Amino acid sequence: MQPRTPMMRQYCEAKAAHPGALVAMRVGDFYEFYGDDAEVAASCLQITLTGREDGPGNRIAMAGVPYHSVEKYLARLVGAGHKVALCDQLEDPRKAKGLVRRGVTRVLSAGTVLEESMLPDRANNFLAAVCVVDGRAGLATLDPSTGEFLVTEVEGDRLGERLLQELARLRPAELLAPAGAEEEERIGELASAGLGLTVTPGEKPDGNRAERTLLKHFDVGNLAGFGIEGKPSAVVAASMVLDYARASGLSLGHVETLSTYSVDGFMQLDPTTRRSLELSQNLSDGSRRHTLLSVLDHTVTGMGSRLLRRWVEQPLLDPEAIRERHESVGRLADHSLTRGDLRDAMKKVSDIERLVARAATGVASPRDLGALRNSLLALPELDEALRKVALAGLYSIRERVGDHRDLAHQLRLALVEDPPPTVRDGGILRPGCDLELDKLRELSRDGKGYIASLEATERAATGIEKLKVGYNSVFGYYLEVPKAHADRVPENYIRKQTTANAERYITAELKDHESAVLGAEEKALALEADLFHRLRQTVANHAAALLGTARAIAELDALASLAEAAVVRAYVRPEIVDEDVLEVEGARHPVVETNGLFVPNDLVVGASRRAMVLTGPNMSGKSTYLRQTALTVLMAQMGSFVPARSCRMGLCDRIFTRVGAKDELALGQSTFMVEMVESANILNNATERSLVVLDEVGRGTATFDGLAIAWAMVEHLAGIGAKTLFATHYHQLNALADQIEGVFNCRVDVEEIGDRVVWTHKVVPGGADKSYGIQVARMAGVPPSVLSRAREVLDQLDESERPVEAMRASTKSVQLTLFEAGQPEIVKALVELDVTKLTPVEALLKLDEWKRRFGKA
Ligand code: ADP
Repeated sequence: MQPRTPMMRQYCEAKAAHPGALVAMRVGDFYEFYGDDAEVAASCLQITLTGREDGPGNRIAMAGVPYHSVEKYLARLVGAGHKVALCDQLEDPRKAKGLVRRGVTRVLSAGTVLEESMLPDRANNFLAAVCVVDGRAGLATLDPSTGEFLVTEVEGDRLGERLLQELARLRPAELLAPAGAEEEERIGELASAGLGLTVTPGEKPDGNRAERTLLKHFDVGNLAGFGIEGKPSAVVAASMVLDYARASGLSLGHVETLSTYSVDGFMQLDPTTRRSLELSQNLSDGSRRHTLLSVLDHTVTGMGSRLLRRWVEQPLLDPEAIRERHESVGRLADHSLTRGDLRDAMKKVSDIERLVARAATGVASPRDLGALRNSLLALPELDEALRKVALAGLYSIRERVGDHRDLAHQLRLALVEDPPPTVRDGGILRPGCDLELDKLRELSRDGKGYIASLEATERAATGIEKLKVGYNSVFGYYLEVPKAHADRVPENYIRKQTTANAERYITAELKDHESAVLGAEEKALALEADLFHRLRQTVANHAAALLGTARAIAELDALASLAEAAVVRAYVRPEIVDEDVLEVEGARHPVVETNGLFVPNDLVVGASRRAMVLTGPNMSGKSTYLRQTALTVLMAQMGSFVPARSCRMGLCDRIFTRVGAKDELALGQSTFMVEMVESANILNNATERSLVVLDEVGRGTATFDGLAIAWAMVEHLAGIGAKTLFATHYHQLNALADQIEGVFNCRVDVEEIGDRVVWTHKVVPGGADKSYGIQVARMAGVPPSVLSRAREVLDQLDESERPVEAMRASTKSVQLTLFEAGQPEIVKALVELDVTKLTPVEALLKLDEWKRRFGKA
């Protein structure tokens, strides 16, 4: 676009300085988009696309939104993945000589918004950056709305995969990936395609510049205090985030520290496991309904809710830390009255974390400070309740909550009860808070009083009954007299305007009072704004201590929430032991049980029982049992009580689950590929301390391939010694229990009543020998003729399988003989394959080759 008018030149400059962003120009009472941006904005916001003259005969596309509701529109644009640069008026248009100066004051993108309406209140809004330096990957995450700034470094093999795991956990709103760097671009692509993240190409500074950025931001001499010295990838990633946030116009005074963490400190959960366990997003619509988080979340603050979600997504590995959480949850569960008091007090606490962040970045409104005041005033009540339970972990929380008495006092003295949402119209500060302000307000009030009484005094003085006082923006206050009485006005009236029926006058005295009123009012507003900004700065100066309080309350809220869930749902405290066991009595599925009647089940995994082969007809409850086991372990390690009668367990280093959604299984071939990639990941990474939960693996392919693969997998996992639950409809796998140490069989029992089956959902020892498919088909209404034919076919099949049964008795390599009847070659190939030496990709290629070779049979 070639600009022809000076304003368009301003626009084009802003546009050139912010590539990739839509530029919104403030013009009068509107923000306007031009050219291509206008088309994008019009279609995304469903507003009218019009045009604007840019010099004679040159019309450009334009779309505009009113400035007072701009936030709503910005939220929609940012939500749709756009970046928007706000080009504001930098001077008061009334005082500007010629063209108003304009410049970009904020760039809004998914990761840099602070506006309340654009933030999820129960989740963090992270801006993240990745970068790889010398084979190590750094990942930095900043939540500009709370000031939390974290960085981690991942090294060793499987860099990309481990980074993606971490990204799947954090789910940043926006991810910066350096443009032009091969590895990072690949990670960016995977994050975008696999996790659906918004990825922005970023600039990767060199190590020295990055270090200088951090030193300058934190105003320190070296980085040793942050634990990132000598970790160039972490330093570069952290500086990318800061640079980007600052270029977006955020002032980052509240980002006071950088914490490093190790992904090894937490349980690793791959994206598939997170998804299939439905931790904080369900499989059906991605919302938090029917998720583990939804049953555990009884928090009463946004801060607590965000923290609880992080706990759910990030189970612990340190037994002491886990026991400490259990201890606190137990205390809070036992003291129901105090818990009630604590939660009532916390309900009065607003999102201090975000309020402080807004104060520090200079965007907090009077209403925000009012909310902060109310929150601080609730602290004594909170402390009073905490005193009653403050032992161990809760004692430290009580200390960290603090009281902020001085600041609370200052805010209480200054702010009116219900402060307004903007500074513009005043009415923020209490009388008595500032002498000068009181004086100005009085002056303005007196002047107004004089003008208000003028009507009466002038009517009396002139005897004109219909005399009125009015105001307009051209010449201010005036006296209006009907034309009929114009001859009775006194000498000192100065005529200003004639209307159809009346004459309008001013007097010198009226104008004096008027300028006193308006002058005082204007001064009072300016002074009030100034005092408010100082008050806000005082809050900003307390940012670090206030954030400490916020985080302690978040922790208390999360613990109280777990206690509430434990009481409401009758959970039990898990006993964490050193022994590598998992013994759960009467375990339930925390989400499914909320639907109504639920049949509890036991599980004993110990030294001699490592891998369970679980059979049972469709819909009997296999996957529910699998999932509830994984969830029990996860809940215990995040510090929660568990849905069971008793639970004794050693810690798991990882949980792997492959529990497909039923409709996913129906998709066939491509699903099989996915399933195998995921299975390969498990086979390569599980240790004897892992919990592996697999459902119907191998189902997406031909029967014998599937059986062969399932067989080999159970063998492999039993070899590792991982605690394994393997649900399958291949009854043949029951034979493994006799062959391999540590493998044992269970089935979900059904009752046969006549030719009907009744699901008991009860898990009992032993294998299943029937699949009840025909009974189920009958109950579903399949016609009798088809059912009886199916029975005939089944009998014939059983006949043909007899040789296999015979072979099963022979000792050597049962799995080989078992499949010889079908496809000897694939079994041979399978037996020769050393799964431990395969990478996931090699496994895939192998499978692909086999499919092509054997698939036709
Ligand atoms: P499968 O994996 O064997 O096909 P599912 O685990 O999907 O079976 O369970 C089928 C249905 O049975 C689910 O909708 C669930 O609500 C119900 N169910 C499963 N286990 C139980 C249980 N222990 N108590 C009550 N209902 C259960």
